[in-house]
This record gives sequence, C-alpha cells and structure tokens, in this order.
Amino acid sequence: MAAGTRLFVVYAIASLVPVVALGAVLAQTYKQDAVERGLEHGRAQAAVIEEMVFSPALRGALLTQGLTSAETARLQTATDLAIFHGSVLGLRLRSFDGTVVFSDDGALDGGLPATHPAFARAAAGGTHVTVLDDPVHGPAIRVLQPVVASASGRSVGVLELLLPYDAVDEAVKASTVRIYGGLGVGLGVLYVVLAGISWSVTRRLQGHAAAAVRDALHDSLTGLPNRELFRRRVEEACRQASPSAVALVDLDRFKSVNDTLGHHAGDELLREVARRLTDALRTDDVVARLGGDEFGILLTGTDGPAARRRLEEVRDEVAGEMVLDGVPMSVEASFGVASCPRDGRDVESLLRCADAAMYQGKRSTSGVVLFDPERATPQGPNPLGIQREMRRAIEQDELRLHYQPKIHLMTGATTCVEALVRWQHPERGLLPPGEFLPVVERSGLIGPLTEWVLRRALADCVAWRARGVRWSVAVNVSARNLESEGFADQVARLLAESGLPPASLQLEVTETALAVDTAAAARTLTVLAERGVATSLDDFGVGYASLSHLRSLALTEVKIDRGFVAHVESSDEDREVVRSLIQLAHGLGLTVTAEGVETEEAVTWLQAAGCDNAQGFHFSRPVPWETLAGGTTVPVQAARTPEMAP
Ligand code: C2E
Ligand code: CA
Ligand code: CA
Repeated sequence: MAAGTRLFVVYAIASLVPVVALGAVLAQTYKQDAVERGLEHGRAQAAVIEEMVFSPALRGALLTQGLTSAETARLQTATDLAIFHGSVLGLRLRSFDGTVVFSDDGALDGGLPATHPAFARAAAGGTHVTVLDDPVHGPAIRVLQPVVASASGRSVGVLELLLPYDAVDEAVKASTVRIYGGLGVGLGVLYVVLAGISWSVTRRLQGHAAAAVRDALHDSLTGLPNRELFRRRVEEACRQASPSAVALVDLDRFKSVNDTLGHHAGDELLREVARRLTDALRTDDVVARLGGDEFGILLTGTDGPAARRRLEEVRDEVAGEMVLDGVPMSVEASFGVASCPRDGRDVESLLRCADAAMYQGKRSTSGVVLFDPERATPQGPNPLGIQREMRRAIEQDELRLHYQPKIHLMTGATTCVEALVRWQHPERGLLPPGEFLPVVERSGLIGPLTEWVLRRALADCVAWRARGVRWSVAVNVSARNLESEGFADQVARLLAESGLPPASLQLEVTETALAVDTAAAARTLTVLAERGVATSLDDFGVGYASLSHLRSLALTEVKIDRGFVAHVESSDEDREVVRSLIQLAHGLGLTVTAEGVETEEAVTWLQAAGCDNAQGFHFSRPVPWETLAGGTTVPVQAARTPEMAP
C-alpha cells in the first residue's frame, strides 16, 4: 500500500472512533428520553384513572375504615371495564397503613410493603412510576399515587396501578428506530465529509512531501538527479550482481562560454547538455548533475569496452552543434569511466577511479577514457590539492623541462627540441604531465604554467646556443592560452627579452584543441605567424579538424600522431593513413613530423614516404637538454664567440 493511502486509512479509522462514540451517546440519550416519555405517559394515564374512576367512587372517609359495599360495587364495575379494555392490567387500593381494601382480582394481600419508599412517597402525596417485569403480566408500568376522594377533597389512601407497557414499548421502539435511522444518516454524512477532508489533506501532504524529497535530491537548473541521488543509485547498482559503469563527464570550455556569453548562456548550455545526455541514454541508466559543469552517468548491465562504446555515442550526441544566444557552437566533453565491480565495489572508489580516468585522458582531448589501474597513482589525483600545490610548484621552481629532439630524416640532424614539462614533486617524485596538466588546464593556472615553460625553454635555448648548439625550441601550448587575449604579445615580449629570433621558437597546439572553432585561437595563430613564430599542429589525425579549417589556420608544421606512426611497419591501414596525412600536409605547404618513432624500420618507411622529420624513443626519450647536448658541446671559449651568439 502506498504511504499516502496508508496514512488515509489510519486517518479514516481514527475519525471513525469519535463518530461511533458520539452516535452511541446520542442513541443512549434518545432511548432514555423515549423511556421517560413512556413513564410520563403512564403517570398521566394513572392520574386520569384516579380522577375519573376512584375519586368519584369514594365517599371521602379514610380507607383505613374500609369500603362500603356500594363503593366496592362501583369500583368493581369501573375496574372490570378498564381491565376489559386493556387500559389497566391490575390495581390495588390501599389504606395508608398498607392494607389492601380493594383489588381487581378480589385478593386482599400482595403489593408493595407499606415501608417501601415508593409506597411511602405515594402516602406522602407524591407519585412513583417505574417499569418492571411483573411475574403475572410481564413488562408493565407500575404507578403508586395518592387517591383523593372528590366528596371530601382529601387524600384517603394509595392507589397501586399496573399499566400495560406494550404501547409504551412500541412507541419507544418506533422512536428509537426513527432516531437511529436519522442518527445513522447524519453521522454517515459527517463521516463521509471527514473522510473527504482527510483524503484531500493526505493528498496535499503527500504532494508537499514528494516535492520536498524531489527538491532535496534534484538539481534545480536541469531537473536531473543531484550528487546525493546519484550516489544512492550507484550504491544500489553496486549491490546488484550485474556489472555497471560509472562515468564522470566534464564539459571542455564551459568556463569560456560562461565568461564570454554570460551566465544565462552558461545555464542554457547546461540545460541543453542535460537534455542531450538524457535523450542519448536508456531509461534504466541514470544521468545526474554533480555540480558546476560536471555530470555523472550510471550505465547498468554493462561495463568496460562495451560501456565505452555506448558512451562514445553519447559523447557524439552531446557534441552536436547547438546555438546559444545566436552563436553556433559545439561542446566537447571528457568522460572518465570506472567499472563495477572491476574497479571498485562502492561509490567512493568508483567515483575516485572515474575521476582518475578523466585525468588519465590525454589533456583536454575530449574522449571516453576507461580507468586504467596500472596508471593510477596510489592516492589518485585530488584536483583541489593539485591546484594548490601547482601554485607553489610554479613559485618555488619545482617544474622541470625535458627535451626530445626532432630529427631531420634526410640529414639525421637535430633541428629542434621539444620541451616537455615535468613536476619534481617533493613527495611523489618526478611526475609526467598527464598527472597534473588536465587539472591545470581546467583551472586558471595554465596561463602561469605556460609562461613558466616559455621563459625556461627560451632561457635554455639561449644556454645551448651559447654552447654553439643551434636547435630551435618547441613549446606545447594549450587552447586556453591561444584563446586568452594578449597571449601573442606575451610571447613576443618573452622572445624579445631572451634576445632570440622569433624563428627559433615553435609553438605546438593539439588538433583537438583547435577543432572546436574558436575565432580567438585562430587570430592568435595568425598574429604569431606574422611575427615569425613557427606554429605546429600536434597529434594530427586524431582530431576533427576539417581540411577547410586547417587551411584557414596560420600553421607551419603538422605532427602526425604517434597512434598512427607506431604501427606503420605492421598495419597496412595505418601506413595508408600516414601516407595520406603526409600528402595532405605537403599539399597545404606544411612540414611534416612523425611522432612516436620507436624502430629503425619505421624510420626507413617514413623516409621513403617523404616525411620531413621524426621524433620518438628510437632517437631519444625526453631528457634534460644537457644530456642531449652532451655530444655536441663546444668549448666554452668558442661558445663566447660572436658567431655563436643567438
Ligand atoms: P605531446 O606533445 O604529443 O608529447 C609527446 C609525448 O609522447 C610525450 O609524453 C613523450 O614522452 C611521448 N613520446 C615521445 N616519443 C615517444 C615514443 O617513441 N613512444 C611513446 N610511447 N611515447 C613517446 P609526455 O612528456 O608525457 O607528454 C604528454 C603530453 O603532455 C604532451 O604530448 C603534451 O601534449 C603535453 N605537454 C607536455 N609538456 C607540456 C607543456 O609544457 N605545456 C603544455 N600545454 N602541454 C605539455
Ligand atoms: Ca607536442
Ligand atoms: Ca603529440
């Protein structure tokens, strides 16, 4: 039974009790009334008999003196008549001392003793009426009252009458039935009204309670379940035997929409994303807004790669174009996925793993990333902690740059070295960028971090040039950097401060970062190119940049993603992709660098395919620049000569 119905039933039963009690009390009172009326009737009848029959028949002497035969005869006639008509069942005429002087059946004994209070009362001038069960006549009304002789006008004895009760009983019964009927109907109506009120009250209470529960467990902006309800659903899923998957969803660039188009557009974006997520999922899946631009998804009955495939479809739905405040845009989302029971059996560990998976995903590359226990740090990254620590890391110089060379495939010479940041964490040791960059990218710290990397890289470049090494330096920048106003000016200023020519700096930006069409990033690239800074499209091939979009960007190089390069020896398909990417880039007048080259065979193949540069573990892992420059160090003396200066 539903809670509301149960409440109503309790209420209905509770209100029945006073109604029934009221009915019982009223019925009892009415019945009493009817009996009283019956007795009153008996009293009146007795008064009439006394006045019409006995008073005129007595001569006026006290009955203690007995009756004359004339008196007895008159009384006998009247009595017979009354008995015959049934208006009297029996009677006795008694003197004040209790002696029976006359009775209907001639018996001169019986009757109440003279000491009985009822007799005493009648002897004193009062009337006593009662209902009794007579052994001879059955139920009857007994009346005791004084007899007043009309001749003398004084009270001469006591008359004891037994009147039939049937008529009274019938009257009582009839009125009782009438009263009970009326009472029943009235109380029934009262009860129905009360029940109606209680039904509507419980209904309303139920509505209020449901609304309160809803408010406590749902997000007011999107109407989706909130974090609390999501936790409960995940807990329930954990208790089931079938596998499930928990995904955390983070919108890339939500902050910039909010900042540039305002909160109204930001809210609209969140609502639209909520709608798309809901539409893309099945009814037994759960989607919740966990706060800010973070959503949670629970897929039931599936996990691992199958869950990833479904979430990839969901991601595509979310990424479809939408128009906010008249501005068409698409929103990419990153998904971190943890599977139950494989990655954890409780809410806490699943959420932590899903969160970690999101950071394991490569930078802001929107994608669906399954949690990989092998790549997890012991405590898992804690975004807030990392943000706080990163500030300190930048201030206290805990960051390091390792460099990986780009080799010119025709000559085998190092043309450029790419700066890859690491964090020499005081407790956790040397951390790769995947451990902290995603958090940094999403916070406001990517600006300071990139500035630090640029300064350091340019200073290092000055240092190796001072040793006679003429590599240019490549620095990775994030989409956020390109979008921020004044970034091109900042680069120009740092270059000027270092005294290096602009061409000795190359900026790498990932294809996925540029795929989302942001005019601001494209403008920055143009300004940088105009100033002579080389720009490179990183991870080429995995993003979604269209050819026309690529052509509109001021780029000098593309770097083919290592995902394709890694399998050129073994996979025909990847060979075809790399070959066409090279042709495409050359067609656009761009230099091509292949990343992730790990074998001699790959080098040979790339050379044959016409690739310009290569980079990868085959040549060198990222290392401090001194390690790279070790073999080519020129004497300190020479480094100071003017030719060697930048
Ligand atoms: P990326 O720009 O694509 O850098 C290449 C990554 O591939 C590096 O990982 C490098 O160690 C690795 N790698 C190079 N050759 C090979 C190879 O032959 N085989 C394999 N398996 N891996 C190879 P790393 O250093 O962990 O950097 C990861 C990513 O972090 C970089 O990808 C880059 O996008 C980003 N990153 C690194 N430093 C910075 C930085 O200073 N600023 C920004 N914004 N991003 C950075
Ligand atoms: Ca790079
Ligand atoms: Ca790359």
